[in-house]
Amino acid sequence: EPAVALEPFAGPGATADGTAVGILANVGGPADVAAAVERGADGVGLFRTEFCFLGRTEAPGFDEQVAAYRSVLEGFRGGHVVLRTLDAGSDKPLPFLTPEHEQNPALGVRGFRTARLHPDVLTLQLEAIAAAAGQVPDTAAWVMAPMIATVTEAADFASQARAAGLDTVGVMVETPAAALMSAELFAHVDFVSLGTNDLAQYTMAADRLSGPLAELGDPWQPAVLRLIAECATGAAGRPVGVCGEAAADPLLARVLVGLGVTSLSMTARAVPAVGAAIGETSLAQCRSAATAAVAATTAREARAAAAAVIAVEP
Ligand code: PEP
Ligand code: MG
Repeated sequence: EPAVALEPFAGPGATADGTAVGILANVGGPADVAAAVERGADGVGLFRTEFCFLGRTEAPGFDEQVAAYRSVLEGFRGGHVVLRTLDAGSDKPLPFLTPEHEQNPALGVRGFRTARLHPDVLTLQLEAIAAAAGQVPDTAAWVMAPMIATVTEAADFASQARAAGLDTVGVMVETPAAALMSAELFAHVDFVSLGTNDLAQYTMAADRLSGPLAELGDPWQPAVLRLIAECATGAAGRPVGVCGEAAADPLLARVLVGLGVTSLSMTARAVPAVGAAIGETSLAQCRSAATAAVAATTAREARAAAAAVIAVEP
């Protein structure tokens, strides 16, 4: 599909029969905004705010954070930007925030869990996000927390974000526990976003950085697809995004829509091809592909089954 990939996506995203599907970009900081805009992304489904914190000996100050968040919000006036609060720990340790020498850092104090030890860092970040949002009122600023495992954590994050003045609040679904509790999470949040990189890691108990185990961390694993389906069912029509690498695969993106996912966020490079793939496929075809993939026994069979449905059904 290289011919498609070179054309910018002329959104807004929708299936061939007109069901809206957000086609959004993942950005790692202000430097990524231009590429996302050029490729035609409808907005940002994952703004990884770590860039502001990595390589530092203490948290950046309020003004510095406001300026960084503001410059990303300014790139998407009329759209929305989902800002993820700091996801430190595990593969992204920070000396002032995460414990040293954890035995299992991927299962340790990471993501929202760092607020148990240093609540002040999250409070300041939420205030900086709210201030930046106030300065760019024509961009909707949504905020979400990474690495949530319980409804209590989601409720705690939501009340802190709302206290800071943010009104659209969500959590990432990166653990099987969160996927299974989706309906209960929605008692506290407005949206969820599936981080399929970590969801696959924690579902399959396979380090996402391990080469020899790459096949286990494949998002086509039927167990991962079934958890995504469970999460979307619990959402009952409320917004469920995917912001992991899975959203960048045009075939898997259609399966995700068929499972009930309402927006897809990906590296800017993938936006044109995924936007085009969704646009040429009906919701019924996406659902048939999803049904076939979820019924498979292996990741390879799931992909083959979805491909067969998409190829056969016009
Ligand atoms: C994910 O886990 O899928 C995700 C989007 O977050 P990150 O890759 O930053 O951990
Ligand atoms: Mg993650």
